[in-house]
Amino acid sequence: MMNYPLTLTNLLKRGTTLFPQKEIVSRELDGTIVRLNYGEFYRRTAQLANALRELGITKNKRVGTLAWNTHRHLELYFAVPCMGATYHTVNIRLSPKDIIFIINHAEDEILFIDGDLLPLLEAIKNQIQVKTFVVMGNQKKYNTTLSLINYEDLIAKQPENYDWPELDEWDIAGMAYTSGTTGEPKGVQYTHRALVLHSIVAGLPDIMNISESTVMLHIVPMFHANAWSIPFATVMTGSKQVFTGPRATPEDMIGLIEREKVTFTAAVPVIFRMLYEYLKANPGKDISTWKNSVCGGSAPPPSLVKAFKEDFDMEIYHAYGLTETTPLITWNVPKSYMKLDDQAFYDLKTKQGLLVPLLEMRIEKSDGSEAKWNGEEMGELLVKGPWIAKEYYKDPDETFRKMTKGWFRTGDIVTIDKEGYIKIVDRIKDVIKTGGEWISSVDLENEIMAHPAVLEATVIGLPHPKWDERPLACVVLRPGMKGKVSEKDIVDFITPKFAKWWLPDKVIFIDEIPKTSVGKFDKKVLRAQFENLYQKDQE
Ligand code: ADP
Repeated sequence: MMNYPLTLTNLLKRGTTLFPQKEIVSRELDGTIVRLNYGEFYRRTAQLANALRELGITKNKRVGTLAWNTHRHLELYFAVPCMGATYHTVNIRLSPKDIIFIINHAEDEILFIDGDLLPLLEAIKNQIQVKTFVVMGNQKKYNTTLSLINYEDLIAKQPENYDWPELDEWDIAGMAYTSGTTGEPKGVQYTHRALVLHSIVAGLPDIMNISESTVMLHIVPMFHANAWSIPFATVMTGSKQVFTGPRATPEDMIGLIEREKVTFTAAVPVIFRMLYEYLKANPGKDISTWKNSVCGGSAPPPSLVKAFKEDFDMEIYHAYGLTETTPLITWNVPKSYMKLDDQAFYDLKTKQGLLVPLLEMRIEKSDGSEAKWNGEEMGELLVKGPWIAKEYYKDPDETFRKMTKGWFRTGDIVTIDKEGYIKIVDRIKDVIKTGGEWISSVDLENEIMAHPAVLEATVIGLPHPKWDERPLACVVLRPGMKGKVSEKDIVDFITPKFAKWWLPDKVIFIDEIPKTSVGKFDKKVLRAQFENLYQKDQE
């Protein structure tokens, strides 16, 4: 067979030449809806590539984006890598300190920024080396001291075609930094080859089932692991795409689902919960086209998956991955021969799922041997494959720690059942080590969150003079439930599910669980806050 490179240019050309009339819909900050078709998307992408060339962007140079999910961000997703340069999506929710670090570390040449984020840039402009800023949005004037180029002016007069270079599939297309819940952000570079192979696999029927007839709503941020690579997969298949735009509320998102007849979306559990609560509070929305979604980033509580299915006939599929893995590692779909009652079905749904095609895995116990497929033995998940990072950008020490002997260490502790379904029982740093045994904080959290009065819950291990660590449950009650539910009620509720030594020593009611920049529970904040709780008990 031919030695033919797998590049994003091929996906761009296919999508835009075969489906030129398919629609892209994007919401501006002020609520205005922009509509363009794939033909116009191609021409604008070519114009952008021409403009970037004029601005001095050449092969391998980095183009930073500080941006929401919009059609302009999609144009950057293609123009930059297809001209041979590298897009670098900066996570806008990181601290200014981290943003400064990653823009300088990546050596971005230009920054494309959405208008509402200018104050963020204004605050850090003297600490970053980038001097060229392109502002995106439909606003004409901005109140800022920054010297800005307007995106629409930048591309307006450019030719509507581009002589796309022949690329090598190993060329770098994009990069992103991990959100840094475990220390300083670490850079990951994605090759064209990785993104193309990932797009094909992500779209398979037993995975996201992305086809020409899919109407995709992009909720998962484009600054997070390539928006799970969905924008590439949907351009490849010519699917209609809907972008939520800056600062979208649940009302905005549901409005887009209703009006644009969205069939599929991707988001983290916190967003699904907000959408569910909104739908409950605002009955009568016609979301009947919305049949499936993928939930990742952290595990969705089974109660939420069930409620969406029963109340709105919308099936949430569970997927798992990391920034370093492009991100897809597993996808959860029951096998056709499985006969599952309701309970078993939702228990299965909480697992992270089956390894996706083209990857290999190893589940390594603390003694280095492999865990048995019995759903009980715990080990760290190691993976390898065509879209798994082999190194961190300019960080040999971290590379050495995480990439050993051709494997990438996920830092996730998992079990695997006899059918091959992986279940994350914890992160290596969150698993509660008590009396020489491990307790899964995640299992406890899921059961507590099934209590009808509980809005959110997290369980952390606190230092304990006798047992090393003991669990503490931090619980947020639903509005109106405060004072009506006791510590004992919560413990009694989960007692039938666990061995006695698993039960939290205390339950604390709090107003809100601190979240990381990407909406995950930030356990280190709670661990610091309650650090001495069990020490004191013993005094
Ligand atoms: P970090 O949070 O370290 O910056 P990422 O944002 O890439 O890294 O998140 C990756 C981590 O998120 C995984 O190692 C895993 O612990 C967690 N994660 C991702 N998807 C899921 C999921 N479906 N269920 C449980 N945990 C998940």
